[in-house]
Amino acid sequence: MDEIKQDFRCRRCGACCRIKDGIVRVSDAEVSRIAAFLGMDDASFIANETELAPDRKSLALKSRADGSCAYLADDNLCRINPVKPDKCRTFPFEWTNPDSHEVCPGLSRQESLPRSKDEIRREMRARRKALSAAERAEASVVICTKLARSSGLGEVIDPFEIGSPIAVYLASPDEIDLRAYIERLLWFGLKVVAPRWNGETYELAVLKGLDARHLRRGPMGIMEPVDAEIVPAKEVYGWIVPGLAFTRDGRRLGYGGGWYDRLLADAPKDAVKLGVAHSFQVVDNLPAEPHDIALTAVLDDSLADNALDFRRT
Ligand code: SF4
Ligand code: SF4
Repeated sequence: MDEIKQDFRCRRCGACCRIKDGIVRVSDAEVSRIAAFLGMDDASFIANETELAPDRKSLALKSRADGSCAYLADDNLCRINPVKPDKCRTFPFEWTNPDSHEVCPGLSRQESLPRSKDEIRREMRARRKALSAAERAEASVVICTKLARSSGLGEVIDPFEIGSPIAVYLASPDEIDLRAYIERLLWFGLKVVAPRWNGETYELAVLKGLDARHLRRGPMGIMEPVDAEIVPAKEVYGWIVPGLAFTRDGRRLGYGGGWYDRLLADAPKDAVKLGVAHSFQVVDNLPAEPHDIALTAVLDDSLADNALDFRRT
């Protein structure tokens, strides 16, 4: 056990707070502790924040419909961390469950080695798929608001200042949807481009609208612009790019085809290249390759004001 403890490094992945059918029992003392932390009295806390455990032997914290704990925040952190129940505090050592080694990447010695790109892709695809339509829509609203907020069209990418087309992507059902931001760009009369497959590779085609007249379904099932005009990547100074995982310092893990890296490789050196992501897609580290193109910044769907951190300098 000591050896396992020594190897353990919590990845802050929140998987232990999403264990299917996981029950977080709370004692009377824990009820009072958490209620006080939340500024509630014990009775309201019990009525609103707990439920009877399935064996009816104790109270347990409420779970969401997907089985995750109601106190798990978008950034995978516990909203009641300073007063969380002992069961959570002692996972995965004193308290454990039969699946702990499978659930907890911090516990597995193999998983504590650097993960491959494919492993990270698999995890991120699964986590994105597990989101409800409402969660995805909420994340899209946050990202589009961050992109478009305050001064004109945004402080990270200001299309008026950049004076070039803005490259966006048209989202697949699992991706953050940029339509609200794209509509805003078009409403301001700005030139917008998006990837389109030409039979051999992706190029940037002008996007004139988001209705059926302006779009067609591409070979990968992703919508593409129909307009004939193509804009070379070397003329585009503002990019908003999708991905499966990102690091804060701008590394990006794509879908494996390398299409975006190829497009970005032709972008001007001083182009603003912005990744957008759910906060769980922003990780500490990613395997790097020599051909990877670093992004200027990553905006996530947390309420953190990370747009300002990456203002163009
Ligand atoms: S599952 Fe393991 S690594 Fe992930 S947050 Fe829980 S203890 Fe940490
Ligand atoms: S109380 Fe906190 S640590 Fe415990 S399951 Fe809920 S979110 Fe996770």
